[in-house]
Amino acid sequence: MDENLAKRFRFCTTLPSIPAVAIKVMELANDPYTDMIQICNQIAYDPALSIKIIKAANSPLYKSRRAPDNVRQAVSMLGTHAAIMIALSFSLTSSLMKHVGNNGANSNAFWRRTILSALASRALGEKLGYKTPDDLFLAALLQDIGILAFDAMMPEEYAPVFTAATSHDALLQAERATFGAGHDEVGYALLKRWGLPDYITVACLASHGKPGPNDSESIITGCVAASGYIADCFLNPKAEGAVAAAANAAENWLGLDSAALTEIIEIIKIGLHPVEELFEISIIHPSELNGIIAEAKELLEMHTFIKMRDLEEESQRDALTGAYNRGYFDNALQREFDLSNRQGLPFTVAMIDIDHFKQVNDKYGHPAGDAILVAVVREIFGQIRQDDIFARYGGEEFAVILPGTSLLSSAKLLVRLKDSVANIAHEHEDGSIIKVTVSIGVVSNMDGGQRFEHHADLIRAADQALYAAKYAGRNQIVVWNKSLPSVY
Ligand code: GH3
Ligand code: MG
Ligand code: MG
Repeated sequence: MDENLAKRFRFCTTLPSIPAVAIKVMELANDPYTDMIQICNQIAYDPALSIKIIKAANSPLYKSRRAPDNVRQAVSMLGTHAAIMIALSFSLTSSLMKHVGNNGANSNAFWRRTILSALASRALGEKLGYKTPDDLFLAALLQDIGILAFDAMMPEEYAPVFTAATSHDALLQAERATFGAGHDEVGYALLKRWGLPDYITVACLASHGKPGPNDSESIITGCVAASGYIADCFLNPKAEGAVAAAANAAENWLGLDSAALTEIIEIIKIGLHPVEELFEISIIHPSELNGIIAEAKELLEMHTFIKMRDLEEESQRDALTGAYNRGYFDNALQREFDLSNRQGLPFTVAMIDIDHFKQVNDKYGHPAGDAILVAVVREIFGQIRQDDIFARYGGEEFAVILPGTSLLSSAKLLVRLKDSVANIAHEHEDGSIIKVTVSIGVVSNMDGGQRFEHHADLIRAADQALYAAKYAGRNQIVVWNKSLPSVY
């Protein structure tokens, strides 16, 4: 944390303090000899808390067949650990929810998002088979407490930053830029001061970052970090990138795919109303819930579809240049060859090879050679049509398929393509200008009665023509004919 901010934090008298009952509950949690009776007694001191615990135990969040009607039954049903976590969740938030600083107008939005995040975090844990999902609820519930701390420390300065932020991530960036630390760090400091367990303080600190390796601690931080994005999906599924951000967080941090995320949405749906009742807050109007869930699921499906399509597309492309790769080219050639023969329509294939490319590498280095390959491909993409298939055939050799195009109609395009490559003037880091040319061999199928037996014959013919272009002095186009010498 920034020095100045740390000082203000240390001496601030308006920071939210930890309620006495929470301190007692934490003491019990830390004591290995704590038994159920002690916890029940502690909870019974606070009638409001007692009612909450009984209500929680009766809610669909706990799939209980019994209906506990007193604290003892409730705690015994929940188990001591869960009871402590629930007691902390309520005791830590109840006073905070009542007391909110200057940004009061936003406090409802803050708590809606926070409680929804807590529910999402718990649902993620449930889906992942995490043994004590109430820990995840509590950790997520406190992840943004730094916002309240900022608000208490510097209400006037914080209000405009808070109000101007268009998203939660944008808020964090703005805090870091303006105050030298985000609410993650400030929240961490506050939770440390309160003496909360490490897994909660660390989750708060990592609530916006990438969780570490896949141990149990990182499941907590992963659930907490992803929970905010899932909450945002419920609050505004239509917001640009909201669903994609949630899907990516669940995938990258917890290895959950979109099918799992759909199940998590259902778990949240079941828990939403009980949590609204327990925290006495309206998060989503019941009449809107189904619509929001349908919308989120639809957007999630779309996100998955686009991602799969992109992945497939990526697998067909050459990583360096973005041209299609050899595998894609071979399939496309076969397809166009069959189509051309069936329909009796011509199509043209050209092999394009950069001249003396080895010299470019030798003189300017491999990275410069790579940059030239990229520049050549960009230039060629600028010349061909949408339907033309342009691929990196290998090394510095490229191939283009021009569907439905006769030799004659391809001529203009190929001359333009050759000349545009020759016009590339790539500036090297030492200031010198690198120039390259290409040689092109062309052949057409079903053009002027020329019909090839096999699609591989076309490549052989185009290679033969390319070889002839090299032999004739490079930087030129040669059309295949039967009398050309064989390459092999
Ligand atoms: P020619 O005019 O006869 O085609 O001469 P050339 O030097 O272009 O042909 P040659 O086949 O002798 O050399 C091709 C060179 O292309 C050698 C190889 O290192 C380089 N090359 C192939 N792939 C890449 C690549 O991905 N990046 C870079 N920088 N160079 C590559
Ligand atoms: Mg946050
Ligand atoms: Mg070459």
